[in-house]
Amino acid sequence: MVVGLVGTLALTAFAVAALWNLRAQDADVRLSRILAGDAQVSQVARVRGWLLGPPRVGLQVGHWLAERHPEETAALRISTGGYARGVEEIDINMAVVTELTRRLSQAGVHVDILPAVVPPDYRADVFLSIHADSSENPERRGYKSAHRQPERNDREPLLLRAIDRAYLEASGLPHDLANISAGMNDYYAFASHRLRHATAPQTPSVIVELGYLSHPDDLAWMQDTAQTAAALERAVLAYLTALERWAPPRGTAEDVRPNVRVLASETCLEPFLPC
Ligand SMILES: [Zn+2]
Repeated sequence: MVVGLVGTLALTAFAVAALWNLRAQDADVRLSRILAGDAQVSQVARVRGWLLGPPRVGLQVGHWLAERHPEETAALRISTGGYARGVEEIDINMAVVTELTRRLSQAGVHVDILPAVVPPDYRADVFLSIHADSSENPERRGYKSAHRQPERNDREPLLLRAIDRAYLEASGLPHDLANISAGMNDYYAFASHRLRHATAPQTPSVIVELGYLSHPDDLAWMQDTAQTAAALERAVLAYLTALERWAPPRGTAEDVRPNVRVLASETCLEPFLPC
């Protein structure tokens, strides 16, 4: 009886995995369709959710608690973020992550909020590091993003495309491709080839620069946290949907139990980690 049950479960898991791999080849095509508004609830996603549980998304608040960097990234302890037009970068990063967390958890996604220090070998379905830029050049503006170059897994380019397309479309910001730096492509939080405190190589990881604090139009866009977070939420859910890893929760919003972890000790972060 037990052997029969185990066998059936193993066969089901194998069939779902095989089906998913087959379909993963079409993920890019599906992403385009989803972002064009032609989304379909996937039964495969529901079965995978039942087998694996809800997807987990890690959101890093750029520069938060930078003073806690370990020895291997000690030089970053003074990397406390940009400042322009009376606004601290970390305040924008925190406000956007807070709102994005609220939205994703309502959509049934489990969320980890991370400070500057990433737990060793951190694993999730998605890792996003949220930042805002600033420049001495008052004309400079726009959004940009990067994964490690070369990519560490085949999902990183798909995640990047999802974010770029959803964010650029929603914000109307220019794509600041010319200023994607080597530092972004070798961002410490996903430099798993040289650092212990980094996301695992199989965790699709992207750093996002939401816009320039130093440009009034970019700043106004970022300060409207609801629209900034909504653009990122759409990107993350489109990516997970394309991979058949997420389907909208059944029932009403009240039926969804938020699952949020704050991966920083001896701190508080209302409303997720009360003081
Ligand atoms: Zn930053």
